[in-house]
Amino acid sequence: MRNKKGQFIKGVRVWNKGKKLGPQPKWLIQKRFLARMAKSGFKHSEETKRKMSEINKNRPESFRKKMRLIALKRVFEGKHNFSISGNKHHSWKGNKVKYGALHDWVYYHKGEPIKCRHCKITSKEKRICWANKSHKYKRILTDWISLCYSCHSKYDRQYRFNHLK
Ligand SMILES: [Zn+2]
Repeated sequence: MRNKKGQFIKGVRVWNKGKKLGPQPKWLIQKRFLARMAKSGFKHSEETKRKMSEINKNRPESFRKKMRLIALKRVFEGKHNFSISGNKHHSWKGNKVKYGALHDWVYYHKGEPIKCRHCKITSKEKRICWANKSHKYKRILTDWISLCYSCHSKYDRQYRFNHLK
């Protein structure tokens, strides 16, 4: 971590020190950093926000992706302001975020799913995701199985059917 003058700050804990990471998808790493940024309470004024959204509408997705990466780079270099704590950020809490965070947690600990448990299809052929067995979305690793999209929807339908009886 560096300060505003670009000098190294002593005694600042490195966030990933001593952590062992499994294979993680790139988008997740990116998302985690963006979440960290949002948590810091970084805000633009309403006027700026309006202007930015107007400009963004006319831009291709590739450009937006590039801009996000630049923002991430700023975070890496310590140029981003982290002084405002996460609790002050108004839009940080909510069920949607909780649900997303739980999925990130599963991906973080179990890595990217490779094979569908039901039809044995691999991630090269179809997109595989982690499905919750009990549908209670608890933080238990054994409660999650890798399923492809079609098996996942079948699985969810079966679950709903069983609960109607
Ligand atoms: Zn499947």
